[in-house]
Amino acid sequence: MSETVLINEIFRSIQGESTFAGTPCTFIRLSGCDSACRWCDTRYASVENGTAMTLSEIERRADGFRTSLVEITGGEPLQQEPVYALMQQLCDKGHTVLLETGGFLPVDRVDPRVHKIIDLKAPSSGESGRICTSNIELAVSAAEPLKKSFEFKLLLASREDYDWAVDLLNRYRLNQHCTVLMGTVFNKLHPAELAAWILEDNLNVRLQLQLHKYIWPPDMRGV
Ligand code: SF4
Repeated sequence: MSETVLINEIFRSIQGESTFAGTPCTFIRLSGCDSACRWCDTRYASVENGTAMTLSEIERRADGFRTSLVEITGGEPLQQEPVYALMQQLCDKGHTVLLETGGFLPVDRVDPRVHKIIDLKAPSSGESGRICTSNIELAVSAAEPLKKSFEFKLLLASREDYDWAVDLLNRYRLNQHCTVLMGTVFNKLHPAELAAWILEDNLNVRLQLQLHKYIWPPDMRGV
């Protein structure tokens, strides 16, 4: 019997985050997540059961949107074992594949062609103690072409979060090795404040706003 994945939704939108922001992208949102981040904006994907779909059904649906960029997201997509084969098959078909993960599970078995966007949950999320630091070690020790396939994302809600983030970056010299995306939790910290702190520290990170929340209503699904 074919392997199935629990899918919450598949849709096409504008990529809102990462160095691919602004690009049309097909999103494959997997159901289920065992974490409880305070600022989670996809709780529905964590709690809803989703629809079981075979890998070929998922690929057929995704192909219908005709984008070369495909993102695997959730929920926490790495909780479902068949997602590894799904990512590999999408790469084999010539897609540029992004993985958006909460950063609590290791990414060492992900196909190296996949661009990994790894959240680093700040203290205000309530989950920063569970960060999988082996992902950071994997990225900083990776050979040069592979290193470019890692991006780390910090969403901050306060100055305390920012200070924690700077300390984490310094500890691993992470922003000297990989792209680090730093943004604000929507409506919790004004981007101008974060911009001022970054400039004051001359911090080598990339400020990013969650583009989709400015284009569409911030709680809108399927965008
Ligand atoms: S890991 Fe992602 S999906 Fe899971 S609770 Fe945290 S923000 Fe939500």
